Amino acid sequence: MYIGRFAPSPTGPMHFGSLVTAVASYLDAKHHDGLWKVRMEDLDQPRVVKQSDKTILDTLHQHGFQWDDEIIYQSHRIDIYENYVSNLNQKENTYFCECSRKEIADSAMTGIDGMIYPGTCRDKKLDAQYHALRIKAEDICMAFEDKIQGVIQQNILKDFGDFILKRSDGIYAYQLAVVIDDALQNINTIIRGADLIDSTSRQIFLQKKLSLPSINYGHIPIATFNQKKLSKENQSTPVDHSNIKDNLIACLKFLGQDYEVIEKENTLTNFWATAIQLWDISVVPKIKTIEI
Ligand code: GLU
Repeated sequence: MYIGRFAPSPTGPMHFGSLVTAVASYLDAKHHDGLWKVRMEDLDQPRVVKQSDKTILDTLHQHGFQWDDEIIYQSHRIDIYENYVSNLNQKENTYFCECSRKEIADSAMTGIDGMIYPGTCRDKKLDAQYHALRIKAEDICMAFEDKIQGVIQQNILKDFGDFILKRSDGIYAYQLAVVIDDALQNINTIIRGADLIDSTSRQIFLQKKLSLPSINYGHIPIATFNQKKLSKENQSTPVDHSNIKDNLIACLKFLGQDYEVIEKENTLTNFWATAIQLWDISVVPKIKTIEI
């Protein structure tokens, strides 16, 4: 059975870009008679905005989304991440690192997604206190066939280097938590924004290291305004609840769907039923960004 999800970070209210991701992941799951779960990615507590989890759920509810199972919060699952990490530590797949951002910037090359850590601390045998934990990257190519963007292939060592699993402030990294939670929630298909496409090969690498099942991925274009990604951080306009149907139609247009029949539906229930039936992932634009 298809099990999909939407995993917002509660760092502010939903904006058009996050609504598009919710719509695409929901339609793809429901079109395949699947489940759709919601997970709050609230590990980075300094960035979390109080009550924004509630605001996000309210926006989803008002737009007629129906999620399956209980909503999980990553901040309640620290022990779980700890367990998986000790397993990697025991196998000597990890090491602690004392390098500051500046030290790394001075010596590292820029890769696909930030600096490629040159492995400075690999053999220092540092202890945990105040140090970040990194996984030893391997010189292997991770390839996957994205349901929207086609084949993506990256080398973990050459493109990213040893990446962080736990930050020096004790916060578990997104890459680690997302892989564990997707597996424990039995997620088998992930539809999300193309800003995360370069995280996927690291996540597949971690799945293999942790002996977790593989997942199908599809990355939809992200909405940009003045060439910048809409984000909660750059104060993108929150979704307006007085125009539910217009908001949803705008999402369908963005996703390349044939919205004209759907637009004629006069209740939210019928709107969703028709949109689910007509959903066609093959017409979602195969590009990384769309300027709105
Ligand atoms: N929490 C991430 C975000 O809001 C999404 C993570 C994911 O879908 O893998 O950008």
